[in-house]
Amino acid sequence: MTAWAAIADHISQTTGKPFEPASPRSLGGGCINTAARLSDGAREYFVKLNRAHLLDMFEAESDGLAEMAATRSIRVPQPLCYGIADGDAYLVMEYIALGRHRSDGAAAEAGRQLARMHRQSADAFGWHRDNTIGSTPQHNAWMTDWVEFWRERRLGFQLRLAAEAGYRGSLQRRGERLLAEFDALIDHAPVPSLLHGDLWGGNMSYDSEGRPVIYDPAVYYGDREADIAMTELFGGFDHDFHAAYDEAWPLDPGYRVRRDLYNLYHILNHLNLFGRGYLGQAQRLIDRLLAEIC
Ligand code: ADP
Repeated sequence: MTAWAAIADHISQTTGKPFEPASPRSLGGGCINTAARLSDGAREYFVKLNRAHLLDMFEAESDGLAEMAATRSIRVPQPLCYGIADGDAYLVMEYIALGRHRSDGAAAEAGRQLARMHRQSADAFGWHRDNTIGSTPQHNAWMTDWVEFWRERRLGFQLRLAAEAGYRGSLQRRGERLLAEFDALIDHAPVPSLLHGDLWGGNMSYDSEGRPVIYDPAVYYGDREADIAMTELFGGFDHDFHAAYDEAWPLDPGYRVRRDLYNLYHILNHLNLFGRGYLGQAQRLIDRLLAEIC
């Protein structure tokens, strides 16, 4: 059986309805995986493929999509099934025709809906399982102290990866100092919020009715400011989005400084994933944060 026949078979079993698709239409690669649309003319699915040893990554993505979908706040693709076929790992989810148009007020709606998703809380920071950020492992074992969580599971982990990749010297020295002292910047009391976790502009779009959709998450429960910070890192979220979010659930004073602290995690991850081009930005962020503490 070919991989596609096996995937179609899995879809038939999961939905309880025979699914006999035409040839898959390749959608090219995202940042990490290759993707295809599988359709029989009546039903269509979005399928992500990668090497078999990455099945765990797809399991975690499926769990993350389900956790966000359960909040019924902002649209996410419904995950359907995952597995290994012909040596490749696959994840099947609902296909959503993205980006056709954006209705009036859609960006504001996205801000309000994200605030609603962030209201979903947990008893501690983390998640019931690890996942990935890009293709980097993201450790989510629960902790009740947010500062400790951010130190151990986020910044400290990425700094160690950077050291292993050979980024030593001042990045590590100043990074270590920041790890020891950044609690001075967290002078609010965040509640654990369900986060998308990787909310850059490429992971949000609009469905054919112009409603916001988010996908490709790195879910965990954390300070909601971490999601908002990332929306400001690479652009793609406009004033209406931020104004509507802030009206629905105002950010705490001091957010502007913590934004750098939270985005440093993603910049270190980019350094570890994509290389030296991100070193200067990581160092500048660390220096700016240290200057805020002094
Ligand atoms: P990767 O994990 O490789 O980064 P993404 O999940 O970001 O892949 O998907 C790649 C692209 O495919 C997205 O930028 C988006 O345009 C599109 N896409 C993602 N999910 C869906 C979906 N469920 N239906 C249709 N298109 C999707």
